[in-house]
Amino acid sequence: MILQDLHIHSKYDDGRGSLMEIAEAAKDRGLCSVGFSGHSPLPYENDWSMSWDSFHAYMEEGRKVKESMGGELDVYLGIEYDVISDLELSGFDYVIGSVHHVMDGEEPISIDDTLEFFEEACTRFGNVEKLVEAYYETVGQLADNPYVDIVGHFDIITKFNERKCLIDTDGEAYVAASKSAMKKLVKAGKIFEINSGAVSRGYRTEPYPSKALICELHKMGGRVTITSDAHSLDGLCYGFEQAKVLARECGFGEIWQLIDGKFQAVEL
Ligand SMILES: [Zn+2]
Ligand SMILES: [Zn+2]
Repeated sequence: MILQDLHIHSKYDDGRGSLMEIAEAAKDRGLCSVGFSGHSPLPYENDWSMSWDSFHAYMEEGRKVKESMGGELDVYLGIEYDVISDLELSGFDYVIGSVHHVMDGEEPISIDDTLEFFEEACTRFGNVEKLVEAYYETVGQLADNPYVDIVGHFDIITKFNERKCLIDTDGEAYVAASKSAMKKLVKAGKIFEINSGAVSRGYRTEPYPSKALICELHKMGGRVTITSDAHSLDGLCYGFEQAKVLARECGFGEIWQLIDGKFQAVEL
């Protein structure tokens, strides 16, 4: 595999550094290519996604960095698209589709903000099983979006599970809901990221998705890539060795990477 990171945040959302600073750091660390994936603007005020103003500035700097890095580093301008965003998706080099909310009627409810919010969301939906079901139902809908290339942090609903056992991930309801979404996404040809972001930020000791789900994905004939979900320069390519070992242990011999503008299989 080539050294590439496609899930990176910057000063335009809740990450750090300009896109040029990120590209320079990537080049210094020997990456072959880098992809920016700012959080798409959301229809409500928040402190983590790009506003429309910062989105336009992000696109402008992204285009400049692509041009100025020339042959030294391949730079891709992507987006981490949240399903509740109404951003038009045709102009990106690639799209990571992510679910950070489930809808309660017309109201988006965040599922990965804080443990307290998560517990509140469980109460709103009746119980944790119902929230899990609504979450995976929403994740499965990414299959219908032709612009989505990569499924972001497939099981982020378990973000707080290591701190407090909230979801029985071996239970029948969880397994059925997660498998059903996975099946749809595999059938639609989506690539799943093995994402180390929650490890680097101290929420989890293992990347998303869980080992059980990565093994299931392999059985279903799914495809994987490896990303960091970096929110700072230190996070670039964080935990890639651990992710590679995990992918191999689950049976994968190749991963999918963006090379010459196309996703291609590369030996792991
Ligand atoms: Zn995300
Ligand atoms: Zn992200």
